[in-house]
Amino acid sequence: STTLELRDVTKTYADTVVIDAINLTVNAGECVAILGPSGVGKSTILRLIAGLDEPTAGSVRLGETTIDTQPAEERGVGLMFQQPLLFPHLDAIDNVAFSARAAGKSRRQAREHAQKYLDLVQLGGYAHRRSTELSGGQAQRVALARALAAQPRVLLLDEPFSALDPQLRAEMHSLLRTIRRELNPTVLLVTHDQHEASVLADRIAILLDSRLAQVAAPHEIYSRP
Ligand code: ADP
Ligand code: ADP
Repeated sequence: STTLELRDVTKTYADTVVIDAINLTVNAGECVAILGPSGVGKSTILRLIAGLDEPTAGSVRLGETTIDTQPAEERGVGLMFQQPLLFPHLDAIDNVAFSARAAGKSRRQAREHAQKYLDLVQLGGYAHRRSTELSGGQAQRVALARALAAQPRVLLLDEPFSALDPQLRAEMHSLLRTIRRELNPTVLLVTHDQHEASVLADRIAILLDSRLAQVAAPHEIYSRP
């Protein structure tokens, strides 16, 4: 896994400053949660890192590389959203195999690779379910497997569990902890849920009024007298 660094990153839409010169370093293997109310610019930060949008100023680095000049598909970034966005006409395994196929692996090799990630998200037995036949929680696990199977240098999670009921959400939290233990990815997680941020993240970055108001470990943020 790799260090992710935002340096003086600014994003302006028309004359509105959404992100104002923020600095943030996510260490290799660390999980940082960006916590803030709706509309504050959390998703915008992830889009700038992923290359779905361009910063107005500043730079985004992954390890030694400045990535904001690279095309999105070359950045080595894995993305997961609130909705799983699976290909409905493909089986679970072919959804997960997609990046390996795109990288030129044979169907068999791609599926062997994908099966390992389906096993990791505890859906090893669902390889040949159509994605439309999966429950919401299962589909979200497949989306996570797909993001991980691309072996990204950084994993970006945008409100990934917000659409799930509390029981499924708790299961996904436990799965994410397992994945961190086994694969040690660098993770930037966006959430509006304080509880989620404090149980999953090593550090929480609070985004308020276009700035990171505080970046600290959960116990430091929530241990006020
Ligand atoms: P959050 O993820 O915290 O809910 P967003 O990053 O989605 O917030 O949005 C932050 C602000 O930027 C919002 O006010 C939103 O309306 C605005 N915004 C996001 N994308 C665009 C865009 N493409 N054009 C104009 N404004 C945008
Ligand atoms: P084959 O790979 O068997 O020579 P095709 O390329 O026509 O033949 O694909 C057969 C099946 O493989 C498709 O029905 C689809 O389910 C799956 N497939 C094809 N391309 C991809 C891809 N990029 N990612 C995942 N699955 C794919």
